[in-house]
Amino acid sequence: MKTSVIGYPRIGKDRELKFASEKYFRNEITEDELLETAKALRLSHWRVQKANGIDYISSNDFSFYDNVLDTAILINAVPRRYRELNLSELDTYFAMAKGYQGENGDVKALAMKKWFNTNYHYMVPEIEDDTEISLSGTKPFDEFSEAEKNGIKTKPDIIGAFTFLKLCRFTGNKKTADISDSVAKAYCEMLKKFNDLGAEWVQFDEPYLVRDLGDDDRSLFVDLYKKILSQKGSVKVLIQTYFGDVRDCCDEISTLDFDGVGIDFVEGKMSLEIADKIDSNKVLFAGVVNGKNIWKNSYEKTLSIISRLEKHFGEIVLSTSCSLLHSPYTLKSETELDETYIKHLAFAEEKLGELSDLKRILSSENPSQTEEYKENVELFEEDRDCDNIEVQEKTAALSEKDFERLPEFAVREKIQKSVFNLPVFPTTTIGSFPQTVDVRQNRAKFRRGEISAEEYETFNKKKIKDCVELQEKIGLDVLVHGEFERNDMVEYFGECLDGFIFTSKAWVQSYGTRCVKPPIVWGDVSRAKPMTVKWSVYAQSLTEKTMKGMLTGPVTILNWSFPREDISLKECAYQIALAIREEVLDLEANGIRIIQVDEAALREKLPLRKSDWKSDYLDWAIPAFRLVHSGVKAETQIHTHMCYSEFTDIIKDIDNMDADVITFEASRSDLTILDSLKENNFRTQVGPGVYDIHSPRIPSVDEIVSAVEKMLKKIPKEKLWINPDCGLKTRGNEETLPSLENLVKAANIMRQR
Ligand code: GLN
Ligand code: ZN
Repeated sequence: MKTSVIGYPRIGKDRELKFASEKYFRNEITEDELLETAKALRLSHWRVQKANGIDYISSNDFSFYDNVLDTAILINAVPRRYRELNLSELDTYFAMAKGYQGENGDVKALAMKKWFNTNYHYMVPEIEDDTEISLSGTKPFDEFSEAEKNGIKTKPDIIGAFTFLKLCRFTGNKKTADISDSVAKAYCEMLKKFNDLGAEWVQFDEPYLVRDLGDDDRSLFVDLYKKILSQKGSVKVLIQTYFGDVRDCCDEISTLDFDGVGIDFVEGKMSLEIADKIDSNKVLFAGVVNGKNIWKNSYEKTLSIISRLEKHFGEIVLSTSCSLLHSPYTLKSETELDETYIKHLAFAEEKLGELSDLKRILSSENPSQTEEYKENVELFEEDRDCDNIEVQEKTAALSEKDFERLPEFAVREKIQKSVFNLPVFPTTTIGSFPQTVDVRQNRAKFRRGEISAEEYETFNKKKIKDCVELQEKIGLDVLVHGEFERNDMVEYFGECLDGFIFTSKAWVQSYGTRCVKPPIVWGDVSRAKPMTVKWSVYAQSLTEKTMKGMLTGPVTILNWSFPREDISLKECAYQIALAIREEVLDLEANGIRIIQVDEAALREKLPLRKSDWKSDYLDWAIPAFRLVHSGVKAETQIHTHMCYSEFTDIIKDIDNMDADVITFEASRSDLTILDSLKENNFRTQVGPGVYDIHSPRIPSVDEIVSAVEKMLKKIPKEKLWINPDCGLKTRGNEETLPSLENLVKAANIMRQR
């Protein structure tokens, strides 16, 4: 039995790629220096896999920013506006990723979207009418050769043609059918190159196959791969799926001439039944080691899956369930974490160890008698000491009325209009202000014990004071304290709540050079003490204007943490909701009149298949949010914020969260959401972001005015708020101040009209 890894994290165990790229963006290092860092990282990632005896190691899983963007460039899907900048190859790449504002022009970045059900983001390829698809890049070939020079034979990993096409956005008249031939041709040429280079396997990632597919999708898929596989030569092709099961296309996968099929047995509910339908002469790459979560693999479970699969397949390769991109690097970096915890966990490097353990166990005469196996079974039988009976009783006692806020929305809306007396188009921000070097240094010093709690607080209070003054000067209507005390909107609450454990270096890439460090839900969750009250109360004491209290909602805390696998997500979400509810009531009791409960990540864990939406997710996610705020008074205004506005399909559920105001991203996704707000008589007041904070570009007043004009075509003026599309923490002060000034100017122009 052999082992395979779909992909490895690339940012570096100490986030070397992030720091090098950011230095490059600031012109502090040269292109060559950045390329060297990247090369060293690739080599170390291949070597650690080799050292763990992995048989099929991927190449081309590296990326400076994103693999979908890499694929777009590989086949020449570079929109005109980026070509016309006349930048170097690498800088054109970064212009597509981050936008560009400089001597050569001013262009926005490509749109960015969540990668299936993860917190990773990909760049949406744009196809213009004059885009000429053809194989034009060399990255996968270069990286394959680079590995080979270092004595490592890899299987190149490329986003497959079907998934690529499904993710493209067409900006002109062209449609998928107009370019599918040339896309297939480009992939044929790739295979030819890999034949010439002597590759044994090529892996095409096709996660889109786990979604609901229609007849058109199936014929596109078959059509593409008939063409591609007809040219494959002697190289073997692995079609790699992940994040679910392939129930809608298993016959097609089985019939097409793939040599290997990668199936996810962790997230794929029906994968076991489906596997039986696949041609048993194909090599099955069985995704059994979870690429997304951080818990040790249960060898007992895995062995039972494999023994069932062995009845059908002649050759099975043990694999990860998806790319390890979604896992942190290594437990070796977690020197602060106690062994009681460590022994239950596995990060990317330890998952490699699990694959090689499993390989050894499965090749022994008597697998269940091996040391590795017995040790693992014992571990799973151990009590993790994570129960809190009081919390369990509280969630068990919840009844319908705990999820119902009274009075109803329309009544509250009237009351709030009169108590707040805000102008039309109230302006606000989403919460955080730039986390400048001094802010991060202050926190780091405090953590290292170099400054006292008092010094730490004094500094943050000064920051809050400056931030409040700045907002007053700019003329915003509803203010925020700036979130300087938070490293991250989820990790902060994880650290304050009981039941979480946190890591020092468990970074996972979120987008580009941005990483997040999700806390781990270890046990039952409860609130030991107020978490945000003192900061909000202090901030409110500095101004006559209304200060928003700022919390992260239960669904987002859960979605951006590594969840437990021993209780349901619903149970866990309700536990967190009860803890946040206590904080909401505390803020209210301390004079905070607007409370924003961010559900930034609510949309992203919506199951990939429609039939699972309600039962697996919305039926507990929406109630969890309602539980948080159902206890407040009518005159307390509840806001929520969601990153990404792709919630057209669940618009009723969003309205049902029963918040008073919702702000969300809109500027990067051409405002299509507005139509569906209108169609659905969306009653919650809305603040669709008027500019994109993911890029350092400063939006002009005109640009904002025209965004607001567009919004007003679909949203009644009484319901519209004006705000950026997300928190400002990743931005610098240089661009934040002028951007917000322009936002307020635009609001004033609109008010005068
Ligand atoms: N309140 C958070 C902030 O401003 C929201 C961040 C987010 O939506 N990702 O940072
Ligand atoms: Zn956001």
